[in-house]
Amino acid sequence: MDRVTTTPPIADESLALLEYETIFDSAPVGIVFTQMGTLKRCNPRMAQMFGYPPAELAGREASLLFSSDEDYEALRAEFQRVIASGQLFEVQAQPLRRRDGSTFVGRIRARAVSADRRDAGTVWMVEDVTARRDAAEAVARARDELELRVLERTAELAGANALLQAEIVERRQAEARVHHMAYHDSLTGLPNRALLADRLERAMLASQRGGRSLAVMFIDLDRFKTINDSLGHLTGDHLLKEVASRLCRAVRASDTVARLGGDEFVVLVPGVDGAPDCSQIAQKIIEVLGEPFPFEGRVLHITPSIGICLYPDHGQDVETLMRNADAAMYHAKAAGRNTWQFFAKRMNQAAERHFELESSLRVALAADEFEVFYQPIVDTDTRRVRSLEALLRWRRPGHGLVGPDEFIPILEESGMILAVGEWVLRSACEQLMAWRRAGLAVVPVAVNLSGRQFTQRGLADSIRRILDESGMPPALLDLEITETTLMQSGGQTIELLEQIDAMGVGLSIDDFGTGYSSLAYLKRFPVHKMKVDRAFVRELVASAEDRAIVAAVMALAKSLQLDVVAEGVETEAQLALLREQGCELAQGFLFSRPLPAEEIAPMLVC
Ligand code: C2E
Ligand code: MG
Ligand code: MG
Repeated sequence: MDRVTTTPPIADESLALLEYETIFDSAPVGIVFTQMGTLKRCNPRMAQMFGYPPAELAGREASLLFSSDEDYEALRAEFQRVIASGQLFEVQAQPLRRRDGSTFVGRIRARAVSADRRDAGTVWMVEDVTARRDAAEAVARARDELELRVLERTAELAGANALLQAEIVERRQAEARVHHMAYHDSLTGLPNRALLADRLERAMLASQRGGRSLAVMFIDLDRFKTINDSLGHLTGDHLLKEVASRLCRAVRASDTVARLGGDEFVVLVPGVDGAPDCSQIAQKIIEVLGEPFPFEGRVLHITPSIGICLYPDHGQDVETLMRNADAAMYHAKAAGRNTWQFFAKRMNQAAERHFELESSLRVALAADEFEVFYQPIVDTDTRRVRSLEALLRWRRPGHGLVGPDEFIPILEESGMILAVGEWVLRSACEQLMAWRRAGLAVVPVAVNLSGRQFTQRGLADSIRRILDESGMPPALLDLEITETTLMQSGGQTIELLEQIDAMGVGLSIDDFGTGYSSLAYLKRFPVHKMKVDRAFVRELVASAEDRAIVAAVMALAKSLQLDVVAEGVETEAQLALLREQGCELAQGFLFSRPLPAEEIAPMLVC
């Protein structure tokens, strides 16, 4: 019989004990039994966690494992309270101390071995949660940091966004400014020519739909240049701004008031029913601009000339409408200013002639097309030549000799009169000196000055220079200024007249009787001669009224100690009447027409 060797069977209780023993020894958490605050038995993990050899902990005080006695006492009180009720005691993070004094964080769970017997002790389970807690803290820190970064970045983005928004707003404003500048006049803030064209285009479309007319009113200020030249640009600018605001007040908000530049304005009036409507608006404009303009202690007066044309009757496009309104405005000027005119087809021909004339005049001076004619002024007794008047002529290619009445207004308007006027003055002085050098018995020469020249700065200097350069004695020069120019320039001219007088140059009032002389001025002006306009001389024989006027002028001149020249004497009968009235000087076709210099020379014999 085989001998079978068998290990004796282990009792069930012993097996259970072994199982517990194995669990106890290999548990990954620290386990310790305590009784009355003393450590009784601990597993290897417990000893390892606290850095003790396994046997060393048994019998030691439990407080040994805590980072301080206070910590332990606090924990113990709480622990006893909890386990007395048979519950599980649990601390999530308790600072604990290793054998070498270093600390770590442990998670503790403890329970009484028996609820009934307190002396049976307690079992503690400890886990080192330092790493876990560090990891959790690191995660929390990382999350906080991330949140902070996100916040910072959000703030940064918000800042950048705000900057971007501000930049966009600024750019929009700059664009709006540029746009406004491109379409508005900088002085008055009114729409400019470009915007006007746009509005006109739209208004034409609206007019087509609505079936009502559209009025284009071209407004030019009369004699604005005189104000600008004599009182300065500051005054001129102020006046233009004031005119702009008055025009805006005179029309409805739905109408457009635009400034084309200079003293030119345009008003667009949609929805008019024809000429009577337009006349009413034009009248209103004349009234609002007719009110005096007070500025820096002065009171300025300005009047407008208005040209009106209607869409669709007078033009179907922007350019034609503007041109026709402009042509009508010129006719309003010709009709005496401070009035309005409706466009008529014949006006275009006149405008074309005007344009053509102006273009030709622009080259006339350089092309040497101007000439000075001279007309004698004679003694009514002896008929001897006492002086000469220099009169401008234009030898226009293809048109023959053109008289000044046809082109002087254009020279005035364009400002060319300044250069041409100076040329006439120089030519007359040089001519007189040439005659003198030739041994002729020279007489004084009279040169006409236009209103524009008169208000030009530096006129006195220019006269002085010409006298110097030509060698002309000032006493041989006389300057003629029309009554209208003299009175319009008012008190400001006195200084200039006195400068001219002080040079020894004579001054005459031309075309006397056609303007409205103020006796107060007449008395103060240093003038020596009055030229009675030929309109009074013409009807002298037939009109008792004109005879009375000439007699009155003679009396006035006598009392002011002025010489009188009768202009436009054509007949012996006129001459006889003038002599009767005591007029000593006369000029007219009866004695001589204006003649070229070479034909005058023979009259200048001693
Ligand atoms: P004004 O200064 O009154 O000159 C007299 C005008 O009367 C001249 O006309 C002359 O030819 C004209 N006249 C003279 N005697 C008679 C006559 O018996 N019968 C008629 N029917 N007319 C006579 P003109 O040369 O055509 O000049 C017209 C105006 O043009 C001048 O009037 C003057 O105001 C202006 N003018 C002429 N030359 C100049 C100039 O160099 N500068 C300026 N600013 N104006 C000038
Ligand atoms: Mg004259
Ligand atoms: Mg005259």
